[in-house]
Amino acid sequence: MGDHFQTVVDVDATADEAQVLAARVVEWLVAEGIVLGERTDCVLGRPLGHPPGPNWRRAVEESPDWDPWDGLAVHTERTVFDSGQGGPESVTCPRCETTTPLSGETYDEDYEVSREAEPDNGAWPRFAAAMGTWHETGAATVDCPACARPVALTDWIWEDDHYAFGHLGLEFWNWPELRPDFIQEISRLLGGHRTGYVWGKL
Ligand SMILES: [Zn+2]
Repeated sequence: MGDHFQTVVDVDATADEAQVLAARVVEWLVAEGIVLGERTDCVLGRPLGHPPGPNWRRAVEESPDWDPWDGLAVHTERTVFDSGQGGPESVTCPRCETTTPLSGETYDEDYEVSREAEPDNGAWPRFAAAMGTWHETGAATVDCPACARPVALTDWIWEDDHYAFGHLGLEFWNWPELRPDFIQEISRLLGGHRTGYVWGKL
């Protein structure tokens, strides 16, 4: 079984808010016994994370047949959270609801297109460039191929929730599926901010 992650992303938090909000959520998770306060080497891609606490079951769907074997990584910098393997198959405009296919196109770490495949509609390079811009500046738009209106990168609807863009992400490594009401509770702790949920594997 490979490593997988589930990331709850606050898509509304500003760069200035992220640290304070992250601390508030972690404090609650520790108080509830869902994770432990003391950080250890229990996550991927970060030096330290919070290992599962005695009450980790409160966060996950009922009766998982396995225990989480890694912990929680907390991200508090501007991050393009993605699902890992492969690229998204399509993206949908929130204005006109037209879906633009992207399948087959992949990119490298610098958001450059590393392989182009069908359909060759030229959409993916523009989204990839916008991701690079967003990562640098915190703002980017992509003109919709269908309605031609500029749409903020963060407003596009991704197939399979492939991406979420934000300054605060709670990344659970190798946990059973998180419960929707647990994610809602986190959203409430974040002051009612909208949250994205990105699932992926390495
Ligand atoms: Zn559109």
